[in-house]
Amino acid sequence: MPKNRKTAQEYAEGILQGDRSLLARSITIIESTLDSDRKIAEEILRLILPHTGNSIRIGISGVPGVGKSTFIDQFGLEIINRGNKLAVLAIDPSSAISGGSILGDKTRMEHLSQKKDVFIRPSPSAGTLGGVASKTRESIYLCEAAGFDTIIVETVGVGQSETAVHNMTDFFLLLMLSGAGDELQGIKRGIMEICDGMLITKADGDNKIKAKAAMAEYRAALHLFPPSASNWIPKVLTCSAIEKTGIAEAFEMILSYKNQTSINGYFFERRKNQEIEWVNEIINEELKNSFYSHHQIKMMFPHIKKQLEKKFISPSEAARLLLQAFHELK
Ligand code: GDP
Repeated sequence: MPKNRKTAQEYAEGILQGDRSLLARSITIIESTLDSDRKIAEEILRLILPHTGNSIRIGISGVPGVGKSTFIDQFGLEIINRGNKLAVLAIDPSSAISGGSILGDKTRMEHLSQKKDVFIRPSPSAGTLGGVASKTRESIYLCEAAGFDTIIVETVGVGQSETAVHNMTDFFLLLMLSGAGDELQGIKRGIMEICDGMLITKADGDNKIKAKAAMAEYRAALHLFPPSASNWIPKVLTCSAIEKTGIAEAFEMILSYKNQTSINGYFFERRKNQEIEWVNEIINEELKNSFYSHHQIKMMFPHIKKQLEKKFISPSEAARLLLQAFHELK
């Protein structure tokens, strides 16, 4: 076990008292891959669990350069000026895949990072996307127990990370750039389908008119999707982080979503489903790992592959033989 580790009880008490340094250290333990740390992490989580859930969790995504950090810097100020405590977490799919970073390690939110009511934590820098997402989910719990009532989880608009962030937040906000008329090109339909709100960024100067046009196009496009279980129709707004316009409106949109979905029960239904889905994901991941990493299975694979190539067995038979062998091993 690394030196200087406290007991889970001490970490949990520190978190509940709002001790930021112990919160940060607890997140480090959550992100650790050591077995001894995993045990402490589980215990910390168990102790703080009754104090979680009391927040609004906001997912924010958009392609690199769309203006995420500039927006979050201003948006965060709006949030804390209303008396809230804000935690900003990140999921950087590039660090999970290549060890590199799109979101960057530098402090990207210069105004926010100086505020005492704000806690900023960069993305875990190692592990699979599933692993990183799971750690971020646990970090959300820790931040909530430490008294942060507004949680932002930021990600980059590439790959699967948006779905991961959508699955752990209450409101998924997509930041978009206005283009030159061909707004809907190149946008993954799936991403639009999961967003609860869209913000056209950089609506200032010469870009203002284009941003308004983009807003109209996206509104029309979103209306074509079937209504979701929340009964909420995704809203499209414009904003400028430089001119500080549309920032308060963006937060109002999220509050109105929370209000509406709390009344119709969807807000907590979504959280409940997310937790069950999370359990399923962990089980899937663990089962897969124990299957593929099993010594005997690894030994069988080349043989099965050969039989497959020679057309002695079909793919479904190959899978069945391997799974059967796995079950018999246990
Ligand atoms: P990120 O990669 O999505 O985090 O984007 P950044 O926040 O780093 O912004 C990318 C670039 O867009 C920077 O050069 C910003 O100065 C610029 N930018 C961000 N927000 C605005 C805005 O509201 N208006 C204008 N005109 N430029 C902006």
